[in-house]
Amino acid sequence: MEQPGIGGLKFNEPEIWEKSRKGRCAISLPKPDVQESLLDTALTADAPDLPQLSELDVVRHYTRLSQWNYGVDSGLYPLGSCTMKYNPKTNEVQAGRKGFAQAHPLCDDQFSQGSLELMYALEAFLAQITGFDAVTVQPAAGAHGELTGMLMIHRYHEKNGKQRSKIIIPDTAHGTNPASASLCGYDSVKVSSGPNGILEPCAIEAVMDEDTAGIMITNPNTLGLFETHVREICDIVHSKGGLVYGDGANMNAIMGIVKPGKIGMDVLHLNLHKTFSTPHGGGGPGAGPVAVNKILEPFLPVPRIIKESDTYKFISDLPDTIGRMHTFYGHFGVLVRAYSYILSMGAHGLCDVSKLAVLNANYIKERLKKTLNLPYDLPCMHECVFNDEKQLPVTTLDMAKRLLDYGYHPPTIYFPLVVKGAFMVEPTETESKDSLDQFIEALETIAKEAMDTPVLLKSAPHIAKVSRLDEVTAARKPCLKG
Ligand SMILES: *Cc1c(COP(=O)(O)O)cnc(C)c1O
Repeated sequence: MEQPGIGGLKFNEPEIWEKSRKGRCAISLPKPDVQESLLDTALTADAPDLPQLSELDVVRHYTRLSQWNYGVDSGLYPLGSCTMKYNPKTNEVQAGRKGFAQAHPLCDDQFSQGSLELMYALEAFLAQITGFDAVTVQPAAGAHGELTGMLMIHRYHEKNGKQRSKIIIPDTAHGTNPASASLCGYDSVKVSSGPNGILEPCAIEAVMDEDTAGIMITNPNTLGLFETHVREICDIVHSKGGLVYGDGANMNAIMGIVKPGKIGMDVLHLNLHKTFSTPHGGGGPGAGPVAVNKILEPFLPVPRIIKESDTYKFISDLPDTIGRMHTFYGHFGVLVRAYSYILSMGAHGLCDVSKLAVLNANYIKERLKKTLNLPYDLPCMHECVFNDEKQLPVTTLDMAKRLLDYGYHPPTIYFPLVVKGAFMVEPTETESKDSLDQFIEALETIAKEAMDTPVLLKSAPHIAKVSRLDEVTAARKPCLKG
């Protein structure tokens, strides 16, 4: 099968300043019809040194740079934990509509009824999808949602008269969980998952006490497995007065199938930029709405949107609120995309998303487990985790780099930490069987190369724009000039 990677027509492109030629200009202004007057010398002395280029120079510069990019619109992007699915363009069109895109955040409620209605309706949709009583769409990302949720748990214990000092975090939780708990002043108590990668109630029973604020459970967990004992675990935590935080960033696997609010969880965040159609990967913007049950509702951030007869308005005078988590109302454009996505998919469509995401991941798992080692061989959810045990001394890193030569963005590597040499693939529901087969074949070829010509992999990638980088230096001393 032909792989998407190619070698030709890859352009070098210098910094825009190197292309600058004095006097070149991309615009032509009409002659002034008033008398010219010179700018203040203070202004001209400090004038920025802007590059001087023709229109074609500028167009080629940015087009070439854009061709060094790789995105979901160019090919399969199997980055585990990130849900890099295709985002239908209709959602971009809706978010770009003037009434939404140019709404001014300082506009009075009475002139923003459409935007308020959209946020109000989106909160209701998300409450229904997650099975909770109330939602805020204010947080700007998944980790920001975690902080919001943990601040609410913190405020809840404070209000109950006794603050607690610890929080239970399983080894299969997302890495942002302990960081969010720590920002609220909690110490993390690490709990190991059982031999099949799932949390065991007895392990929670052993550590849960009355100085523990609760637990943060990522479900499906970072091994791509569904935590089957959530109900028992919630009962154990609740019986000692603790609360259960659900990390719902992986909702793409269970949307329409499981309602976390109905299986005992108290609070949950979603990643709209993963599950609900916002392109991501370049650092934002995103949105991390938080859904809560009745117990935590009074602590939600302000402002909240309410509906009085036919009018929507913001209210802020709520005595127990944790306060504001973001300026204005969060990342409104992301909310429009999510709203449009939910309406265009419909309830059945959202269910199909989860079923197909799980089917695709299980297809990859079953077809590749002969080729790559699969440490936890259970039916998976939206992603599956292999490692390099069969290929060593060729490593996960070598295989990921070689995938670039075949035209793929590599999967997530060396995460989750519970699997040594992890190679985590999340295909998402938007890939067809053809594109999964093509990807599987690329990995089978790479596994064969690992046996026959390991040197080839050790020095991969060979036809990418740059070859192997010194990643430590790149992280410690980033060169941001291009
Ligand atoms: C992506 C992810 C997060 C963090 O989300 P951000 O928007 O990147 O802050 C948290 N938990 C899980 C399980 C995730 O997959």
